[in-house]
Amino acid sequence: MSETTAFLGLGAMGTPMAAHLARRAREAGGRALVWNRTGAKATAHAREHGSEAVTLSRAARADVIFSCLPTSREVDEVVGALEADLRPGTVWVDCTSGHPEAARRQAARLAGRGVAFLDAPVSGGTAGAQAGTLTVMVGGEAGVLERVRPVLAFAGKVVHVGGTGAGFAVKAVNNALLAVNLWAAGEGLAALARAGVDVAPALEVINASSGRSNASENLVGQRVLTREFPLTFGLGLLAKDVGIAADVVRGAGASAPVLMQTEALFRAAATVVGAGEDHTAALRLLEQMNGQEIR
Ligand code: NDP
Repeated sequence: MSETTAFLGLGAMGTPMAAHLARRAREAGGRALVWNRTGAKATAHAREHGSEAVTLSRAARADVIFSCLPTSREVDEVVGALEADLRPGTVWVDCTSGHPEAARRQAARLAGRGVAFLDAPVSGGTAGAQAGTLTVMVGGEAGVLERVRPVLAFAGKVVHVGGTGAGFAVKAVNNALLAVNLWAAGEGLAALARAGVDVAPALEVINASSGRSNASENLVGQRVLTREFPLTFGLGLLAKDVGIAADVVRGAGASAPVLMQTEALFRAAATVVGAGEDHTAALRLLEQMNGQEIR
């Protein structure tokens, strides 16, 4: 297939994801267009990765349009801005960690233009985006996914999880589990520190034992104990994801007290610590609650 793709939103995730689309276009034919609100980032992307920086109305005429924006609200805004230029037969693949209700709204709105919509959020972080090994969880029609599957050059694993909105729901719950594990690891280590136990060997033991998690193995030691908290995934974005998970819980009439409590904790952490900090800085709130640094 030698389609023209367009990627909207060159943030921490979009920049490396769009670079894989540009690589694919070089190798398999086709064109890789990019658009970003701050245009200089698109120009730099074209220079560094061989994509083509274009206007929003040009991007609208691509065969496959990708978006990766902070929330569904920004996706709504961008859909509104380029809607008139869309062509029937286009597929819109939204890689934002969005809201299931917004997916259903966007799918219906785009269907009116003959454009198919897939909610296709990703997992794997900026490292996975750079390596082209992201996990993509897709909601929407399976047949539409099969049409675009060859173009998903940033993916290591692609799973169709259900109808429109299912991808966003799975992503929200996945990230709520990340938040639970991160917070729980922080609670355990803060308690040990207050009890006079050295945190570094305690974490070494946990990471070789049954209490370990991705958060304990790949985040706490590297980002919290070092006090570096390097920004790759914003705390405000994780708080948003846990909020979506809570909406999914409520919408389903499910009982999930730990997830609901985690929503409140991460909302508080984003307010107290700062939404623009790295997500691991949520543990700074926990440190304040304990009068104890985790180090
Ligand atoms: P960033 O904050 O790094 O980038 C946000 C992007 O959205 C930028 O390109 C920004 O443009 C653009 N943008 C913001 N507001 C608007 C607007 N009103 N109109 C148009 N464009 C806008 O976010 P990430 O790349 O980290 O995250 C993007 C999505 O991916 C989020 O939903 C996040 O939850 C999810 N995600 C993030 C991961 C991570 O590790 N970072 C991992 C997996 C999923 P500009 O350059 O002009 O500011």
